[in-house]
Amino acid sequence: MLERPQIKGKSTAAHPPLPIRRVDAIPVALPLKSPMKMSGITITTAENVLVRIEAADGSVGWGEAASAPTMTGDTLGGLVAAVRDHLAPLLVGQDAHDRPALVPALRRALIGNTGAHSSVEMALLDLTCRASKMRLIDAVAPRPLRTQVKPMWLLGNATPEQDIAEARDREREGFHFFKLKIGVKSLADEIATAFAVREALGTKMPLCADANGGLTLANAKRYIERTRAAKLAFIEQPLPPDDLAGLKTLARMKRPIGIDEGIHSLADVTANARAGAAGVSLKLIKLGGFITAYDAAKLCRKLRLKINVAAKIAESSIATAAAVQLACAVPNVDWGVSLTHFYLADDIVKAPLPIRDGAVSLPSRPGLGVEIDEAAVERFRVKWHS
Ligand SMILES: [Mg+2]
Repeated sequence: MLERPQIKGKSTAAHPPLPIRRVDAIPVALPLKSPMKMSGITITTAENVLVRIEAADGSVGWGEAASAPTMTGDTLGGLVAAVRDHLAPLLVGQDAHDRPALVPALRRALIGNTGAHSSVEMALLDLTCRASKMRLIDAVAPRPLRTQVKPMWLLGNATPEQDIAEARDREREGFHFFKLKIGVKSLADEIATAFAVREALGTKMPLCADANGGLTLANAKRYIERTRAAKLAFIEQPLPPDDLAGLKTLARMKRPIGIDEGIHSLADVTANARAGAAGVSLKLIKLGGFITAYDAAKLCRKLRLKINVAAKIAESSIATAAAVQLACAVPNVDWGVSLTHFYLADDIVKAPLPIRDGAVSLPSRPGLGVEIDEAAVERFRVKWHS
């Protein structure tokens, strides 16, 4: 039997109560424009959970989290079960404005499951900010530090020629930061690709590489040493996330190492900084939501870590809007922003976040700032849970 969270500090007269009437966990499968090959996994369809929270007055907030078996352990079925069976029953009847007390109570009631927690918190923030007619960022950060972000583009083709052709196309659209997905081809091919793409894009173009934890220590050392002259801005997660001893060894090579799969908490940020990481990738699904990701960014500043703010491949404009708001709220986004709705063949909002001159603007409407296309949600709904 699930117990209702003990809520302290009931909302005051500043907000009329916003009782939660229902919470739905909706599994969707969103087709990608083309398959994305990473170390350990190839993604052709984004299997995400959408969370729809409806208040007694009929107003609605939305959240989203990507399944990520090789990053958070979250599967689509697991996400749906976590929200539907464990979190939703604790929320119905509560005042959504009590989010600051509700979220910790939900976390105590269900350990881990960071993707599910993130999607629920996102929907609560969207709902309450819409009710207060404020942007999500204004509810969390003292002031936005920027009003747009310039996302990076991922390159993961079979040949350097294909990577270069794709990069040139995206450069024409204004993309000005590229990431090579490595750990898929032979090491010699990965190294050759780094040099070929660097030569084609010129020395000024920010270029980095992400191994998704797929290199051995010996190969990571070789890659880092031999790509020195390719001037990669950073090499992300070269080793499996629990190999902090290996990270210490690599850090002695004096090349910037980023950590992504290894960051699931503020304690992980500190541990990886101590092991020599130069920066981290912050994703809402890994940290369990926007507020913790924002706190992690503040910790990174204290630890002098560089930050990449990222959505997961591939989230729609719902979770991407949250990533944009996070990236506009934190100061030290030195390693760029990864937005992923571009990789989807179709979106589930009425107006997908556009890119203009290489930049995506902070949405101006209340909440997340996107309007959900419920007909599209139904079109992509996975039926096995309905
Ligand atoms: Mg990564």
